Amino acid sequence: MKKREFLKANALLAGSLVLNPFSVWAENRPTRTTNEFTLPPLDYDFEALEPAIDTLTMQIHHGKHHAGYVNNLNKALTGTNLGGKSLEEILAQISVQDTALRNNAGGHYNHSLFWKIIGPKLDRPVPKPLHKAIETQFDSQEKLIEEMKTAGMKVFGSGWVWLALGRDQKLFVSATPNQDNPLMHNIVSPVGIPILGIDVWEHAYYLKYQNRRADYLNALWPLIQWEEVNRRYKAALG
Ligand code: MN
Repeated sequence: MKKREFLKANALLAGSLVLNPFSVWAENRPTRTTNEFTLPPLDYDFEALEPAIDTLTMQIHHGKHHAGYVNNLNKALTGTNLGGKSLEEILAQISVQDTALRNNAGGHYNHSLFWKIIGPKLDRPVPKPLHKAIETQFDSQEKLIEEMKTAGMKVFGSGWVWLALGRDQKLFVSATPNQDNPLMHNIVSPVGIPILGIDVWEHAYYLKYQNRRADYLNALWPLIQWEEVNRRYKAALG
């Protein structure tokens, strides 16, 4: 810590000791750098996805698993020249031997996407641009969902199933192991921009569904926020 920062932090601390020294110290902690990634809060309560996804699973999945990826990503970035880069830029540079970055940058990106594309059940139709693309390429929304469920059941161990936009501007379904995703173009094929990702790690469903991954995958579809998926589709088209 530089001397000036130390004096400033100390002044802040001294000025607020009467109230709650610990919370104020944490808020003004001068060692935090702006390049650190942080755990994004959920847009809904932990219990909002019941009964499809239980509250305890959400608490542990977000507060422990995702938080762990964020912390380990920040550790893995220490001493590299990737500190100021966006998560997408980091994913694009990862190679096979970058194990810690691969797992934790992937884990942070994948979960940040997942929390946005699921949410409380809405019963709204898929918005038009995406609906049209799905009908053109998969015949129907039902067939797309079947294809993604089948891909999810085929993942051996831990991984993700994706709906992504390829370089040919067409949608494709793929699966990746562990925390890989289609943005890691040095490692993963096919390459694309994910617009929908389904977590098929056991930690996403084991407390409620145990080994019944198919039941979890069936329960998940009513939670998909198609307006958000459509927003990501349009952004990916550029
Ligand atoms: Mn997960």
